[in-house]
Amino acid sequence: MTTRSGRHFLQIPGPTNVPDRVLRAMDFPTIDHRGPEFARLAAEVLEALRPAFQTRGPVIVNPSSGTGACEAALINTLSPGDRIVIMETGWFSHIAWRQPAEKLGLQVDYVPGTWRRGAAPEDLEARLADDKAHAIKAVVVVHNETSTGVTSRIGDLRRAMNDVRHPALLIVDTVSSLGSIDYRHDEWEVDVTVTGSQKGLMLPPGLGFNAISEKALAASKKARLPKAYWEWEGILKANASGFFPYTPATNLLYALREALRMLNEEGWPNVFRRHHVHAEAARAAVRAWGLELVCENPREYSNSLTAVFTPEGHDADRLRTLILDKFDMALGTGLGKLAGKVFRIGHLGSFNHLMLVGTLGGVEMGLRLAGIPHKDDGVKAAMDVLTVADRQPEPAIV
Ligand code: PLP
Repeated sequence: MTTRSGRHFLQIPGPTNVPDRVLRAMDFPTIDHRGPEFARLAAEVLEALRPAFQTRGPVIVNPSSGTGACEAALINTLSPGDRIVIMETGWFSHIAWRQPAEKLGLQVDYVPGTWRRGAAPEDLEARLADDKAHAIKAVVVVHNETSTGVTSRIGDLRRAMNDVRHPALLIVDTVSSLGSIDYRHDEWEVDVTVTGSQKGLMLPPGLGFNAISEKALAASKKARLPKAYWEWEGILKANASGFFPYTPATNLLYALREALRMLNEEGWPNVFRRHHVHAEAARAAVRAWGLELVCENPREYSNSLTAVFTPEGHDADRLRTLILDKFDMALGTGLGKLAGKVFRIGHLGSFNHLMLVGTLGGVEMGLRLAGIPHKDDGVKAAMDVLTVADRQPEPAIV
């Protein structure tokens, strides 16, 4: 049996590394979820969540994975047979949205994408302009496609919807962007924002979230897809006095309270800038290695992960396995049609310069050991980006 020393490097694009402060915050006795102490906890957490989504509206928290929160968004707002548009961005637009939506009995217009670019506002506009009768009830977009490292421009997509005055709801999946990439629920007039706990929010898996607009809330009063556990109405009613209509995940809520405190202490613009700088450094490393990014459009580069093609004839999973065995580092696998062709580096959540340099060092050594043609200049290129960024006091981007 192999023994390992030092820390495991969990560099998949989520679940991410849970900070010690958050782990410690969970390590307390579970309290009565119908008592006054719990009510104070819930009130604090539900309020503190709003800035994370940049919303003044309510945020629903359920014990669930991200996929559960996707289903909750659909069944609370839609009725059997409703037509919806889902923009194809990669594996997650399919597995977390198209497939469940079809199983729920919705009619899905799946607008084709290349998996190398974000959802195109012009494609959405054309699709909605054709729908003069407003049969389309919702548009679903994955903000940050975790399988490809491409971030769609939600503000531009919203403008496209407004330009053709289409009343469909806008539902956005931020599972791998919320808490890492600037995301504006209210400003972009998003109706339901979906996320999970295990990525930018720096928690273990186990919580799913829906931030909801007034329009989404109004739609939920008429929506007829069957629901019970997920029904927003009962949850919002109980939340108003600091409770839940079921037994909540109390210790994960302790963790959430602590993680939100940490993000607030750092300051949201600094959180976004940190992710941007680490992503720029990771991309510089990829270019210096002479490898190819999956994302083709620099305006759509993801700040939370980088997906990289291995050269033709070199299996990306063999590289990942070798890196796991030799250096105890987990990288993300290629998903769907990118299986075996792509590896993904997660650089989101609780993360710093030296973790990035270590991660890229592990990849560079793995490339050598796997005999994959590359130049050994990636780590240096990343360090150059990091040091240049550190000399600039003002945020380059937020
Ligand atoms: N959507 C996106 C963009 C994701 O990255 C994921 C998971 O990684 C999901 C949905 C599904 O979330 P979960 O695996 O927590 O159910």
